[in-house]
Amino acid sequence: MSSSNTSISYVIVADNVWDGLADAPLGPQEILVENGVITDMGTSVNHPPGADVLEFKDHTVTPGFIDCHIHTTLLEGVFDEVYTETVSQKTLFSLSALSILLGNGFTTVRDVGCFDPDFITVDLRNYIKQGTVIGPRLLVAPHLLSARGGHGDATALVGYQFHPMEFQVADGEAAIIKAVREDIRGGADWIKFAATGGFSTPSDNPNQTTYSQDEINILVSTALDLGVYCSPHAYGDEGIQRAVTAGVRSVEHGNLATTATLSMMESKGTFMVPTQWTILTKAENANNPQYWTNRSPWQHQKFQEYAPQLIAAAKNLAASNVTIAYGTDAGTFAFQDNVMEFQALVQYGCTPLRALKAATSVAADLLNQPNLGVLAVGKTADIVAMQGNPFQDISATAKVDFIMKGGIVYAQSVPRLTALLKTITQPEGVMLIPPPSGPAAKGSS
Ligand SMILES: [Zn+2]
Repeated sequence: MSSSNTSISYVIVADNVWDGLADAPLGPQEILVENGVITDMGTSVNHPPGADVLEFKDHTVTPGFIDCHIHTTLLEGVFDEVYTETVSQKTLFSLSALSILLGNGFTTVRDVGCFDPDFITVDLRNYIKQGTVIGPRLLVAPHLLSARGGHGDATALVGYQFHPMEFQVADGEAAIIKAVREDIRGGADWIKFAATGGFSTPSDNPNQTTYSQDEINILVSTALDLGVYCSPHAYGDEGIQRAVTAGVRSVEHGNLATTATLSMMESKGTFMVPTQWTILTKAENANNPQYWTNRSPWQHQKFQEYAPQLIAAAKNLAASNVTIAYGTDAGTFAFQDNVMEFQALVQYGCTPLRALKAATSVAADLLNQPNLGVLAVGKTADIVAMQGNPFQDISATAKVDFIMKGGIVYAQSVPRLTALLKTITQPEGVMLIPPPSGPAAKGSS
């Protein structure tokens, strides 16, 4: 593979196109893609000689999806394995995870934290950009900055002699400044931090506020001075409000936000990345012991405590005007299920339009990527096609069978992405990627 792949031209002829912005699909459209960019779009466009014409019937063509919250290095189950896996295991596992995400139609993803002191996701981002690793375009927050004992500190799981492996734990202003600058020196696109406790960690609680206002202020301002946005992991009101006050661009999860906090986010223009599918599935199953057989007991106990609040908050979010960006926490559950967030958003009261915009134009806005998330002349050719019409049935989003990223076509062979269909250096043919192996999804968040 090389950047020369994108010199192939395509004309996409589709009976139904949605551009990422309009209130409804545009109906039949043709899209001309040259050198990885959309160069024309309308009811009919010029068909240059040599261009491949790709026809889609009974499909909806949309911008490639964007997931703003994944953890590609997690072996589908968080804290129980991060201490025993090597850097190379985490890296190699990520290769199949990234293929699966791209195969689901996600052409861009933001990785919001690798549980390893190394900068694995920065390297993956760079190799994907170069074309030597197959996967969605990556933006990365390398680590989860956390107060000691907070959501990024899993050392309560191991003996005290292992506590030096605290990942990116930082208490107090000086330590926080150092941690932020180290992450940015290491290649961060974003800074992620834990403003509250969470569900998956053993020693904290989602309603606890783990950083003071002063600590969050210095964290966010240190990052902004270097031109890097912050997004906190936050569930409870106080932690969300402190982070929003400090000027974060988005809030991850936010699933215990009351209407007062939602109003504050609305007025400040803060994006919410609610990761609802994983949270609400666990809340719905809080009193189903079978569901928790292979999941952590402390997580089960917390979901039993918070289930009614989580379900109420999801409905409040849908009823609010908070800007929702699509994010899933994939990696804490099976990567192939990252597409389920669409259905969870709609099930809890969002319109299909709001859910679809969350994963396209709104996500691109959050990620400050003006060339992504929209189908229009001059935009990057990240284009997917799915069977059916997601405006009529949102589950069509789980039926993506055509993926173009930056003008390169990837082929989907059910149930996994298996083939790179066409490049100049790899002429028409099939390049098999073995399916990933590993323990069954355990789920966490
Ligand atoms: Zn996460």
